[in-house]
Amino acid sequence: MPKLIAIIGAGASGLVAAIVSARAGAKVKIFEKNSKIGKKILATGNGRCNVTNKSVKISNYHGLNPKFVNIAIDRFNTQVCRKFFSEIGVELTEGQNGRFYPASLQSSSVVKLLTYECERQNVEILLNQEVQSITKEGEKFALHVEGKKEYADSVLIATGGLAMPTLGASESGYEFAKSFGHTIIQTFASLVQLETKENFKSISGVKLQADVEIVQNREKIVFASGDVLFTSYGISGSAILDISRRVNKILQNSDEVIVNMDLMRQYSKEQLKNILLKRLKNSNAKSVALWLDGFVNSKLALFLSKDLRVKNADDLNTKDIVNLVYKLKNFKITAIGSRGFKSAEVTAGGVNTDEINPKTFESKLQKNLYFSGEVLDIDADCGGYNLHWAWASGYSAGTALV
Ligand SMILES: Cc1cc2nc3c(=O)[nH]c(=O)nc-3n(C[C@H](O)[C@H](O)[C@H](O)COP(=O)(O)OP(=O)(O)OC[C@H]3O[C@@H](n4cnc5c(N)ncnc54)[C@H](O)[C@@H]3O)c2cc1C
Repeated sequence: MPKLIAIIGAGASGLVAAIVSARAGAKVKIFEKNSKIGKKILATGNGRCNVTNKSVKISNYHGLNPKFVNIAIDRFNTQVCRKFFSEIGVELTEGQNGRFYPASLQSSSVVKLLTYECERQNVEILLNQEVQSITKEGEKFALHVEGKKEYADSVLIATGGLAMPTLGASESGYEFAKSFGHTIIQTFASLVQLETKENFKSISGVKLQADVEIVQNREKIVFASGDVLFTSYGISGSAILDISRRVNKILQNSDEVIVNMDLMRQYSKEQLKNILLKRLKNSNAKSVALWLDGFVNSKLALFLSKDLRVKNADDLNTKDIVNLVYKLKNFKITAIGSRGFKSAEVTAGGVNTDEINPKTFESKLQKNLYFSGEVLDIDADCGGYNLHWAWASGYSAGTALV
């Protein structure tokens, strides 16, 4: 008799685990509460699905014990990942910063071909089937689903995290884990937009390239470089998402975090000062805002001009220019919160990895119970690392499940 495996969640991790264990001869059923397979995968990478990255390292991962990822990402490295997807029909192509996408640039092709491979391996995918609880009945697990009981020899919890409830995110994976004695490391949103004390409504929509950092006790504790977008609630953009984990972590014990931004990273302070002093020679009675316009975004020019001592550029002196340079190179914002799980891409925290075997992903507390993907206390940087973790942990769990 083949082993009966129940997988909870037809997301990135659950689908890969299902394929791997079905290929090895197990009888696999996936229970999915959504009416669609891989709803979150469809939303990834702005609909293009950033599947993985050229360089996947432990340093891209976070949690209480990031080294937990080591065996899984070594076994399922970028090459293995590309081969896995190529075998099911998804060719990966390299984009910016080592990011890999399906050559179709459509996340739907990833979902369609994962689904096709599941069907080819006789994996049964049951949609609109929300698992309410899991209990033990003798050697078997009983899954309580929509008023019925479904039995399995082994169970994989691949229910994902709390990010974007509209895509299926729920607490249930943590509840299942707790019911078997597992501890949950406090969850919080990561890769998420930040709310600020300052009101940026007047520069809402201004997008630029900036260096972003948090300095504490004179030490730079986090740094990111890339897009910054001012919004009506605060600040967004890839550089902000990159630092959001650290900001939210600090906000657990503090009311605010000062984020320092270099809005003119292409120039040194000296170069910027010289450019502005040179522009001052042609100020020709312009208002400060108009004088700055043409050099910086016009909304930003108006915003910056409000802080200056004078209204007319002809009246600016060298000290004003030095102050302006300082402001552009050290633009400070006060983060007071984030947009939370409703807007976040990923959940930090989750099932304590000390209680999970890093080779097999089996619970150390309950035999034949497995966890993979975002439900675990592992989250990653932006760049394909979160999906890579979902595939890689699903691959290891799927291999061990049989
Ligand atoms: C907008 C957005 C964009 C992203 N872009 C990227 C990207 O480009 N690259 C990248 O690496 N990462 C990206 N991520 C993160 C990545 O999508 C996740 O880390 C990854 O999908 C996690 O995989 P998972 O299988 O653990 O969980 P999920 O993919 O979330 O799958 C979990 C599944 O379990 C189901 N489920 C939950 N509870 C139950 C239950 N009780 N019963 C039955 N079913 C249940 C859910 O409906 C869901 O389908 C993005 C995330 C978001 C929100």
